[in-house]
Parts: sequence; structure tokens; C-alpha cells
Amino acid sequence: MPKKGKFKFKKEKEVKKVKVEVLPKVLQTLRGFKDILPTEQKYWYYLKDKIQKISNEYNFLPIDTPLLEATNLFIRGVGKQTDIVEKEMFSFLLDDNENISLRPEPTAAVARAYLQHGMINQPQPVKLYLVGPMFRYDRPQSGRQRQFHQASFEVLGDGHPVIDAQLLIIAYNFFQEIGLEIDIQINSLGCLACRAEYKKNLINFFRLKRKFLCEDCKRRLVKNPLRILDCKEEKCQELQKEAPQIIDWLCEECKGHFIKVLEYLDESEIPYNLNSFLVRGLDYYTKTVFEFWPVKTNQKSQNALGGGGRYDNLTEVLGGRSVPAAGFGLGLERIILQLKERDIKVPEIEEPQIFLAQLGESARRKALTLFELLKQEKIKVVESFSKDSLKNQLDLANKLGVKFSLILGQKEVLDGTILIRDMEAGIQEIINYNKVVEEVKKKLGSS
Ligand code: AMP
Repeated sequence: MPKKGKFKFKKEKEVKKVKVEVLPKVLQTLRGFKDILPTEQKYWYYLKDKIQKISNEYNFLPIDTPLLEATNLFIRGVGKQTDIVEKEMFSFLLDDNENISLRPEPTAAVARAYLQHGMINQPQPVKLYLVGPMFRYDRPQSGRQRQFHQASFEVLGDGHPVIDAQLLIIAYNFFQEIGLEIDIQINSLGCLACRAEYKKNLINFFRLKRKFLCEDCKRRLVKNPLRILDCKEEKCQELQKEAPQIIDWLCEECKGHFIKVLEYLDESEIPYNLNSFLVRGLDYYTKTVFEFWPVKTNQKSQNALGGGGRYDNLTEVLGGRSVPAAGFGLGLERIILQLKERDIKVPEIEEPQIFLAQLGESARRKALTLFELLKQEKIKVVESFSKDSLKNQLDLANKLGVKFSLILGQKEVLDGTILIRDMEAGIQEIINYNKVVEEVKKKLGSS
């Protein structure tokens, strides 16, 4: 069980030179946690929009589960010997000794919800998707945070290999749609029976070479030998090349399943790379596993953009009926890093179309109601009602890049008119106040 408070903050050193306007370090965001500022939001809107679109096209229903769950859910689901459960969970011991954890991944929680709410009795498969924050107490670095976001797609209640293939098609199409080239890495981990045989062989192989393994892998040899296969240490990578490969140990059923998945992918012309070192870090996987790697750039982020696979034993391990299932998760921060590295432009959230400027108290009052009128007509209008200077307001309008500004002064209020200014040309016209919506629409339509 994770110990209470293992992530306790170190005592902060006294911050000496605190500038008056800067927040003291002790009050700033925690290590590995980030604000997503307004300037970044366009990427999030863009990805969430694409995720929703693709979920809708493939008939996945949205689900949200709590951020906190019983720690045992992850111990049982993800596996006691995994890095995630051993080292990376944010766990809290409550007064009544209840142990709870911030979710480090979504699949165990979605499977829990499926069982808890009797979705097993609905027509199968049940297809669910979830977007939200996950928490792992890991060493923060580029592309690795302690709070990060995943979109996960889960198909519960169906063991057919076509499900695995279609999940890969969905992910492939998603990446195509956002303009990112990926390599699909794919492997099969077999079922519990064939994997047990393979593990024995793997342990025998590495035991003879134990002294050449890194310290982590020496421990993995006892606890989780498959993970030696994805160790990134050079000396372990040399040994990996000669290690027995799981593919050679698959039982007939698992081999047949894997071949079918690959055939469906070939049929759909989805490219993939067979990767016998791909083991994924979570115990619940069975048969097909895969990851989405960015196609190599000279840049820093080499990390997987997502991954998943089949998890036919998870519902049973959680104490429910055995139900085959498969799914994948996408790491949204890493995808955004890639979009930026590759200079892929995403649309602005909503560009303002028009600026509404006012001069004098009676104009300010009238502008307040005009804003509502324009808004009802779905015109994206911005203002700065508290400002008195027209110059300041037009400067702001310029900064915002609007094409037109409406200007309402005392005189216009008395005359029942309003000025419309073409910001680029610097020309302005007087128009009848009662025709303002019509005129604005005309201008926006023709610009
Ligand atoms: P996993 O199931 O652990 O492979 O996670 C699925 C995806 O989530 C990964 O491929 C990453 O894109 C992303 N991910 C996992 N851990 C982190 C992290 N600590 N920070 C940012 N993204 C992460």
C-alpha cells in the first residue's frame, strides 16, 4: 500500500528577495503542475473538439468519473508491482484509515463505473470516452508532468480482434486529422497462460546476465520481468536484443487473435511496426498492446503520444464478471508539444469581430444595451466600457485586430446615429442607429 504522505512537500527555504508584485515561490504552482493560460487554451479547445467529433463519429458515449478513487482500485486494476502503483500515486489516508488516490490513469475507473452501474446488462460492447486530468508522482520534465490530461477511449464487453483494429483506426484517423504523423508500435502480450510460460523463459534468460543489468532491472527481474524489455539503459538494451520474444510463446488463441488484428489493419491500410519490446507499464493488459510514437523529429519529445491495448481480465480482477475489453489513452500535453514543435497552426478560439467604443456617460449607457443587442445577433463584440478616452479604446481595438469599430459619442446619441470605422482604412461612416445591426452584418459579410 502506498504510504500516507509520501509526497509531502519539502520544507521550503525562506524566499529572500521577494519582489513586491511577484507571488512568493511557496505559493506558486506545485512542481509538475501547470496553469493552462488563456493563450494556450486554443490548443485545448481544438483537441477537445476533435476528440468529441471522432467520439461522435464512432459512437462513443461520454463518461466522467471522480478524480479520487479507492487506492485499491488501482492496486488491483493497474497492478501492485507496477511503477504507477509502487511509486507514482498521490495517495491520502483519511481519518478512518480509508486509503484514496488521485487517479493515475482512466481505464480502471471506467471499468469500475461499467461494473458499478450495470452497463454489463446493456447491449455490448459499451463504448465510452473520457477526457480529464490524471496524476502521477513522477520526476517532472518536458512532456512529463504530475498532473496531465488524457483522452481515453474504451470498448467494454467485446473480445473480437476487430475491436482492437478499429481502436487503432480511430487513433490513426485522429492523428491524421490534427496533422501529426505517428508510428503505431504494436505487440501482443498474450493471455495469462502463455505469458506465464514466456515470463519463466525471460527470467531464466536475464538471470544468467543479471550482473549486466541496471539496478532497476535487477529489481524488475524479481518483480516485473517484462519491464526489462522496455528499459532505456544502454546496457539493458543490448541484452534485450537477444532476449526471447513473446510472439514465439503465444498460444494458438492469442496468436490467432493477433494475426486477425494485423490483417484488419492491413485491409484498412493502417501502417504499423511490430515491436516485441513493447510491454506497456500496466498489469491489466492482455493480448494486443500498442503505442503511438511521434515520427522522429530533431526535437526533444520522443515520448509516446498515447497507448493502449486489450484488457480482458480487468473486470474480473476488480471483482466483477469477466468481460473482454480494449481501449487507448492519448496524452494531450504531449500532443500539444508536438503540434507546437511542428508549427501546426490551430484556430483561435473565437476572434472578436467588432469593437464597441463609447464617449460620455449617455453613450456608455446606450452602448451597454447595444452590446446585448449585437450579442443576441451572434456578433462577437468586445468593449472597454470603463474607459473614458476614445484613443485608448481604439488602440485596444487595433491590438485585438478587429476589422470594424462602432463609435458612440454624445452627439451620435442625440442624433440617433452611430459611427462605424474601418480600422485598416481609417475611414468612418455615419449610420442610422436603428440600422446598426443590419449595417454591421453587411460589413462583416462583405469583409
Ligand atoms: P500510459 O497509459 O502510461 O502509457 O499513458 C498514456 C499516455 O499518457 C502516454 O502515452 C503519454 O502521452 C501520456 N502520459 C503518461 N504519463 C504522463 C505524464 N506524467 N505527463 C504527461 N503525459 C503523460
